[in-house]
Amino acid sequence: MSEYFNVAQVFGEDVFSDRVMQERLPKKAYKALKKTIEEGTELDLATADVIAAAMKDWAIEKGATHYTHWFQPLTGVTAEKHDSFITAPNPDGTVLLEFSGKELIKGEPDASSFPSGGLRATFEARGYTAWDCTSPAFVRHDAAGAILCIPTAFCSYTGEALDQKTPLLRSMEAINTQALRLLRLFGNTTSKKVTPSVGPEQEYFLVDEKKFLQRKDLIFTGRTLFGAMPPKGQELDDHYFGTIRQRIAGFMRDVNLELWKLGVTAKTQHNEVAPAQHELAPIYAEANVAVDHNQIVMQTLKRVACQHGMKCLLHEKPFAGVNGSGKHNNWSITTDDGINLLDPGKTPHENMQFLLVLVCILKAVDTHADLLRESAADPGNDHRLGANEAPPAIVSIFLGEQLQDVLSQLINTGIATYSIKGGTLETGVRTLPSLAKDATDRNRTSPFAFTGNKFEFRMVGSRDSIASPNIVLNTIVAEAFCEACDILEAADNFEDALHDLIKRYAREHQRIVFNGNGYSDEWVEEAARRGLPNIKSMVDAIPTLVTDKAIALFEKFGVFTKAELESRVEIKYESYAKTINIEARAMIDIASKQIIPAVIKYTKSLADTVNAVTAAGAEASVQIELLNETSALLSDTKAALSKLTDVVEQAAGMEEGPERARFFHDVVMTAMSELRAPVDKLEMIVDKEMWPMPSYGDLIFEV
Ligand code: ADP
Ligand code: MG
Repeated sequence: MSEYFNVAQVFGEDVFSDRVMQERLPKKAYKALKKTIEEGTELDLATADVIAAAMKDWAIEKGATHYTHWFQPLTGVTAEKHDSFITAPNPDGTVLLEFSGKELIKGEPDASSFPSGGLRATFEARGYTAWDCTSPAFVRHDAAGAILCIPTAFCSYTGEALDQKTPLLRSMEAINTQALRLLRLFGNTTSKKVTPSVGPEQEYFLVDEKKFLQRKDLIFTGRTLFGAMPPKGQELDDHYFGTIRQRIAGFMRDVNLELWKLGVTAKTQHNEVAPAQHELAPIYAEANVAVDHNQIVMQTLKRVACQHGMKCLLHEKPFAGVNGSGKHNNWSITTDDGINLLDPGKTPHENMQFLLVLVCILKAVDTHADLLRESAADPGNDHRLGANEAPPAIVSIFLGEQLQDVLSQLINTGIATYSIKGGTLETGVRTLPSLAKDATDRNRTSPFAFTGNKFEFRMVGSRDSIASPNIVLNTIVAEAFCEACDILEAADNFEDALHDLIKRYAREHQRIVFNGNGYSDEWVEEAARRGLPNIKSMVDAIPTLVTDKAIALFEKFGVFTKAELESRVEIKYESYAKTINIEARAMIDIASKQIIPAVIKYTKSLADTVNAVTAAGAEASVQIELLNETSALLSDTKAALSKLTDVVEQAAGMEEGPERARFFHDVVMTAMSELRAPVDKLEMIVDKEMWPMPSYGDLIFEV
């Protein structure tokens, strides 16, 4: 039985937190650092030296031997290079442990092997990592010992962003500036800073490690490329919120403990819809910290799973025909003095500031629905979006009954005079307390839903960084705020202008609002009538980053330069092609080396049986029928395998870029499904003992 621990005591114990800084830094250094964190002032090198020394001493007390600049290049995962604290030995053979301000602030990793999309000429391999003091440093304990991890941004020699963090921080500045303008218009003179708050709900699968290791597809690609459906799927709805089995509970306990030590506010855990699927949600945090913490969550889930003899699958669609995994990105905007700009209050119709914020968001999402869609695009998510389990690939906003009604009043009569009330929930049981009911029910099918005091963007894939969606959200809303402020600041009569603007935005952008069932076919047709984009795949989504509209948006708010956007487009096409190429090659490998040989063995055993049974004078028609069926499927498999091999070879000869990515999407993916079809049928026929890998049933029902 595992030991008990006190959450309050372990929480944040491995974080170089504000409390630790207060304790360990001289007052002057602490003040200077706080000013940098809060106002972005530059930190002088002398102060950086003091902070670095304190950080090093603290980390060494935690057992750290190394430090690393921890960053998020455009590979989708984090990167790190470890340096120990030791200096060259003294004449007496001893070493000192040192860490300077310069080492804290700046790193120079050789960047030539990270994706740069042509931003960094190959002869100029230098890249820089720069300390992001707004996300706290932490000590991570793992098999390598203990390592001081310093969150950093990563850019090229000429200052172009090569990572996720840099544009995210830029977008946070943009929304801060514009939201403050908006607040000042409403007479707020006290709030000093506005930050987006983000709470990501992380879904994942757990499978047994031994079985995982028998599946080359899972090993190489993170998803199954073959696999017939088990007799039982998720149709009984008995897994969602079901009792958590002991093996999983033990895993969750250790995940929580590790996360709490690192200051990640792991809060909610439960079984998800699909068998073997689970969810973890932290309490929301500032966007930048939330993005870093989500990376820590994903890494921790993987590491702890291994310690428990399991593997954590973060892929968006590990199993065909079974619900995939997403990441709901809850987003709101909060001031430093605790005002949530998305809080409607009890009477939203009277809350003009809220209504302005709301219609600005409608405008932002309507204008840039394509960019939001793109921000959730990755190869794995192509299997989810629009596939009747996740939100459709069409971006729309769910407002709920109460806000929809206020909006309709505004559009129809020009003023909103009342808000629908929630009332109380009657259970009909006297001993149960009567509950105050929300004015609005939940809607689970909307990609972008208002949920009380935040928006929940539900398109994001489980494996993806949440940086991109938040970069887009922050920037598009900053743009809408900016345009509204331009108008309102110039108005002679603020009240009238405000009123007109809210009404105009509500009317002009009401097409983006949809409160019905997002999974239905009618919605797809209706959305087309409304002219809303329905971007079906990542390959279709990528070009939205470099439309004139997108370039103007991102350049205006200093979030991306045109060159940075172009480089990202290049990287995305390449990474799409690489991903599908690996999947296709894995399929070829598995089909030729495992499946076809296994089926041949099976046909041989059938043939032997037919001969033996016939020789014994009995009738073997069933065996013969099975043999014929198997042989036919085997020849289909062989034909599909040859075709897939051909198209993969063809793709290998193509130049990197959009055409090649599209070829993978249209041609290679089709050939992959054609190979999968007969193999999945064979799995249902061939003797289980002879099938070369664990089945879906083995993987998801026997964790
Ligand atoms: P759900 O019912 O949607 O599954 P969860 O409790 O699983 O809800 O997750 C909701 C997430 O939203 C949590 O991470 C929570 O901290 C976050 N959240 C709550 N309020 C806000 C807010 N104002 N801004 C951003 N995120 C929020
Ligand atoms: Mg949830």
